[in-house]
Amino acid sequence: MRLKAVIFGAPGSGKGTYASRLKARLDVDVIAMGDIFREMMKEDTELGKKVKGYVEKGLLVPDDVVNDVLKERLAKVPRGKGFILDGYPRTVEQADTMEKIAKIDVVILLMVPDWIIVERLSTRRICRNCGNVYNIRFLKPKVEGVCDKCGGQLYQRPDDTPEVIKKRLQLYEEQTQPIVQIFRERKVPFVVAMCDKLDMPPETVVETIVKDLQKLKLA
Ligand SMILES: [Zn+2]
Repeated sequence: MRLKAVIFGAPGSGKGTYASRLKARLDVDVIAMGDIFREMMKEDTELGKKVKGYVEKGLLVPDDVVNDVLKERLAKVPRGKGFILDGYPRTVEQADTMEKIAKIDVVILLMVPDWIIVERLSTRRICRNCGNVYNIRFLKPKVEGVCDKCGGQLYQRPDDTPEVIKKRLQLYEEQTQPIVQIFRERKVPFVVAMCDKLDMPPETVVETIVKDLQKLKLA
């Protein structure tokens, strides 16, 4: 049994947290495109240099490069092990190419009301060094202001204000809807995880997802 999933969730939906918990719970690889790009840019490979070139110029990495990066990463998933894709596909073209690269058997969709996201984002802190995300209410680091993983300094994004967050959510919705629609049209099963309480523990959401995956015989 090999899970091949895509996870969608708005910025601030807790997607990263859920993905890493699912990784431990289901023993799958989480393929987060954002992290991969960050890592690649530190490496001196042909593809890494290409990615760096675009990012440094403030340009979006073109679809064909993103697709190559994905192919390379998928090839590293151990045999018999599943994966969850995070941050891909982002465009209709990527969604089309993806079908040729890997057949996705489930879409995990996180549904979190805007007010919860606004509340959460204004309390989140990010590691300057490794990008790990904390929350001063729900996901506190062991030492205040210090990353548990790497000891880096935690900071608050200056654009984590309610107005900017709401705009970001709207943009996310506009960009993601067409992609989600493609998976619906392809009749890929959906696991919809609802988080409608501010203090809902991540384990609760994760267990709901796992149960639904089990019903689909994917976990
Ligand atoms: Zn860190």
